[in-house]
Order: sequence, then C-alpha cells, then structure tokens
Amino acid sequence: MKNEFIFLGAPASGKGTQTKKLAEDLSIPHIDTGGMLRTAVADGTEFGKIAKSYMDQGKLVPAEIVVGIVRERLHKSDCNNGFILDGFPRSIEQAEALEKILGEINNNDAKTLVVNIDTSEDVLIERIINRRSCKDCGAIYNIKFLPAKVAGICDKCGGELVQRKDDTEGVAKSRLETYKMQTQPLIKFYSDKNILVNIDGNREVDQIYEDIKQNI
Ligand SMILES: [Zn+2]
Repeated sequence: MKNEFIFLGAPASGKGTQTKKLAEDLSIPHIDTGGMLRTAVADGTEFGKIAKSYMDQGKLVPAEIVVGIVRERLHKSDCNNGFILDGFPRSIEQAEALEKILGEINNNDAKTLVVNIDTSEDVLIERIINRRSCKDCGAIYNIKFLPAKVAGICDKCGGELVQRKDDTEGVAKSRLETYKMQTQPLIKFYSDKNILVNIDGNREVDQIYEDIKQNI
C-alpha cells in the first residue's frame, strides 16, 4: 500500500512538526514545497531560475512553476512508497493539478488522505504572540507553552530571546485570515471526495500526533 498524505494547517498549527515526525516514522519523504522552491532557486534548476525571476521582481511565483517543481519531485523514486505533502496544494487549481500528477504516478494500490489540523484562531494567536526566538541560534520558545529555563535567555547557547516583528496580534490575524480564505475551498474540495480527516489541533503536540496516527 502506498500512502500519500496532504496536510492542511494554519500558521502555528504545528503542521511542520507533525509532518516531519510522521515522515520519519513511516520512512517516506516529507515534501515541504516552500523549502523545495528555495532549494530549486538556490540550485539554479530550470524551474528555479524562472521562479527567481519572479521573486526578484517581488512577484508571486506562478502556480504552473510551483506545480512543475512538485511534479518533478513526486516522480522521483523515493516517492514510490508514499510521501507527505506540506504546503501544497494551496488552491483548487493546484489541487486539480495535483490530481493529474497523482494519476501519472499511481497505480491502484495508492491511498490519498488529507489531514486537516483544525485549530481555533484564539489558540493560534496565543501561540504566535507568545513565541520567542534566539537571536543567535534561532531556537524557538514560547513563553506559555515552551518557556526557556531562564526567562529571555536561550537554553542552548545563552543568546537573547526576541519576538519577531511580525509575531504580533494584528499581523497574526491577517495571516490567519488569508490562510482561511485560501484553505476553506480546499477543505470542501477534499471533504466532497471523502478523503479528508479533521484533527483537533487545540492540544499538545504529542496528543495531536497520537490522534493523527490513529486516524491514518
Ligand atoms: Zn540560542
């Protein structure tokens, strides 16, 4: 059985942490499309060069470029036993393109499941505004949920802990609003196909992970 996972989750939902852990446990690749785009640009691949020309002008990278990068990635042999997509698709157009790609690479033993980490806006905002990161090593803390041993000082390197400029309530709210607008159509798209499972994201990382494992 080939297990293909698509993860949906707002900023601060813990999607990155959960997908990396699951990929490791299942020994399948974790495909982070944001990271892939940056790698393609850094490596100067054909798609990377085109993407860079848009980014240099401050424009959004067109959907077909992102789709091209995902297609190349999913055709690689390490995806033969499945994979986890993190950050793609972000629109119905991309979801339809993904179906085509899966049609190219799959035979009958593939099972696609969409996992939606569903977290309330209040919880997400609490997590975002209490987040602090180390100026020197980048380690992430949270005043409420993951405090440093000594307030304001990094456990790992002794560096100063600071709040990112965009981790304020106002910015967080507008990012979450954008996320909601992008994602609601996708939730409907996948619910209608009966391949979506909702996971309550208003909990501790380990509880969420256990729940994911039981639902897949
Ligand atoms: Zn540090």
